[in-house]
Amino acid sequence: MDKPILAVDVDGVISLFGFDDPPDRATARFELIDGMVHCISLLAGERLRRLAEHYELVWATGWEDKANDYLPNLLGLPELPHLSFDGAARFGSAHWKLEPLDAYGQDRAMAWIDDNFDESCREWARGRPEPTLLVPTESHLGLEEAQTEALAAWARGLEREARGHL
Ligand SMILES: [Mg+2]
Repeated sequence: MDKPILAVDVDGVISLFGFDDPPDRATARFELIDGMVHCISLLAGERLRRLAEHYELVWATGWEDKANDYLPNLLGLPELPHLSFDGAARFGSAHWKLEPLDAYGQDRAMAWIDDNFDESCREWARGRPEPTLLVPTESHLGLEEAQTEALAAWARGLEREARGHL
C-alpha cells in the first residue's frame, strides 16, 4: 500500500513567527534565508522526520523549490517533492494551494499541515473522496507534539484499514 501523502507548509509550521518571546535556543534557530531572517523550529524538523516513517512528504509552501535549498540541511530531512503555484502564492492564506494539491494527491489519502486554513480548504477536504485530514497549526508554535502523534495515529489507522481489506 502507498503511504498517505503529508503536505507540509513552511511559514507557520516550520518557520515560526508572531511570537512575543523568541523560542528557546534548544528548540529553534534563527537563520538568514534568501535575505530574510527565519526562526526555524528544530522540533518541527524532528517531528517531520518521525512522520516520514508513515507518510510521503511534499512541500506545500510558497517557498516552492527553495524549501529544498535550505530546509533538508537544517532539519535533517531528505529533499522532498514540492508543489508549484505559478505565482499564485500569497502569504497569510492557503486557498491557492488547493488545485495543485488536488492534482498531486489524486486517489491518495492525504494529510495537510498549514497555519492558514480557511473555509475553502475545509470544504475541499470534506469533498475529497479519499481520507483527508487538515492539521491547523498556530504560526508562533508550528508543528506540535500532540499534532504529530495524532498524525502518526491517523496513518496507522489507514494502514490497519488497508490490511483489513486484503
Ligand atoms: Mg503558512
